[in-house]
Amino acid sequence: MEYLYKNKYSVFQLGELAEILKAKKNIPSKSVILTFDDGYRSFLNSAKDILKSYGFKATIFIPTGKIGSVNDWDEGAKDDINIMSWDEIRFLSVHGFSFHSHTVNHVELPSLSDPDIMDELERSKQTLESALNQREHFFCYPCSKFNEHLKYLVKEAGYTCACTSMPGKNDKTTDLFLLKRIEVEKDDTIARFIYKIHYNRFFGKT
Ligand SMILES: [Zn+2]
Repeated sequence: MEYLYKNKYSVFQLGELAEILKAKKNIPSKSVILTFDDGYRSFLNSAKDILKSYGFKATIFIPTGKIGSVNDWDEGAKDDINIMSWDEIRFLSVHGFSFHSHTVNHVELPSLSDPDIMDELERSKQTLESALNQREHFFCYPCSKFNEHLKYLVKEAGYTCACTSMPGKNDKTTDLFLLKRIEVEKDDTIARFIYKIHYNRFFGKT
């Protein structure tokens, strides 16, 4: 965050990116959007203060059925498995952090029937809408599992855009429902982080 701040990167919100892409305009250089998946409590305990100290906003994609519970979908998850509670989410929402859908149950959507997919998409959207009074809705595909039909259903369910984990930068040709991201991992060094954001590439695992 210090690197982004000192190098004069602008932190945008997803809604702003959607407007730019809909208007087929170029995305300003040195612009980033900060997203966090799953809604772990560590966001509240550490990321929040760092982001606030630089005045950066962020979007958190949360599975609404796991709020106040734990990550029980990933057997490999060891530490850091607690998901934020509604009180914590409401607190963060009034401090510049927005919460959007990562389904209800953090399921791999392509394996579900269409009615079950729509239930995951609509119920998570409605839950966040009524709890946080949000008018605009963004989506993040769990485990980056998506296909053309699913993309269509996400649009049908009323979302403005959707994030994948496909590595890379977005430009004016990017599909709003297939936004790419650059994954930053907890053991990334600053050199590795700079390499990722400049060269849009990953070392090894993507
Ligand atoms: Zn996830």
